[in-house]
Amino acid sequence: LKGKIITVVGSGLIGRSWAMVFLSGGYKVKIYDNEPGQASGAITEIRKQIEELQRAKMLRGNLTAAQQLSLLSSHDDLQQALEGAFFVQECVFEDLEAKHSVFHEVENLVTESVILSSSTSCLMPSNVFSCVQNRTRCIISHPVNPPYYVRLVELVPHPETLPAVMDVAYSLMTDVGQAPVRLSKEIDGFALNRVQYAIIAESWRLVQDGVISVKDIDLVMSEGLGMRYAFIGPIETMHLNAPEGMEDYLQRYTEGMKRVLNTFGPVPDFSGEPAARIVKEICELIPAEQQHLTVRRERRDQLLMELAKLKK
Ligand code: NAD
Repeated sequence: LKGKIITVVGSGLIGRSWAMVFLSGGYKVKIYDNEPGQASGAITEIRKQIEELQRAKMLRGNLTAAQQLSLLSSHDDLQQALEGAFFVQECVFEDLEAKHSVFHEVENLVTESVILSSSTSCLMPSNVFSCVQNRTRCIISHPVNPPYYVRLVELVPHPETLPAVMDVAYSLMTDVGQAPVRLSKEIDGFALNRVQYAIIAESWRLVQDGVISVKDIDLVMSEGLGMRYAFIGPIETMHLNAPEGMEDYLQRYTEGMKRVLNTFGPVPDFSGEPAARIVKEICELIPAEQQHLTVRRERRDQLLMELAKLKK
């Protein structure tokens, strides 16, 4: 696959991140945006980031910053951007109509063998690709922010997607150093957000019901569960947490687990008095003004970078 061309459509936060990930793997990347000047602006931003990463010795892949940047080009013309591509990664607004119009346009400009991949976080493949004629080459490759440090990519097929298309996407993602996982069918929220929302819902309920503070529920994750979840998942956790492994765990803990799970309430409203209270509590810890949020985001990204090093 190396040296082949990937077209990134949409040059916002995620488009720029994908471009950097693909460049690190030695792919030629052509960026397109329908907002004039946006794609060339993205190149300036990517250059700055790649050079900074090289200085910080955090640049991914075997190529230097200059070598990676020589593989990158920006285009205000979609047809030109798609020329020679084997894979198209769509990263436009999270809006079904925007996705429809992009894939309709793209499909008319590429051959049948070109893989059409969407970055959508929350839309189902059968909706995203409903306007595409040949849906056997369509797939969702859902990244996690920031993709340069958080490597997971959820691959979600359309019901008509060919297994070979899934395989190419899987190889591509592995080749550029991401960590792909395959879903065998589409489901609302994919896997990551279903798990994330379960955690958010229970955390919310515990604060809402006055059991624990916002500060402390966040510590339950960051100082507790999160410590192991950076390296082992929930199923391996079960397997390791009983002396004789999973079957032992099931014998010892199933009853308790079911008892607790049965006390989980309905889906929270995320509104009204509890929401006001939770907003107030988190804003006392981290005021919602840009300067405070920026500091915390930079801290998050710095720590994720360190963690990514550790995981290597
Ligand atoms: P963004 O708003 O930063 O960027 C969107 C870009 O797409 C803009 O530059 C815009 O000019 C361009 N665009 C819009 N319509 C277009 C069109 N018809 N043709 C070409 N370009 C067009 O958005 P983002 O945060 O980068 O998100 C992009 C996609 O990635 C969304 O589907 C989002 O759900 C998904 N995603 C986002 C995150 C995240 O944390 N931001 C994480 C995973 C997935």
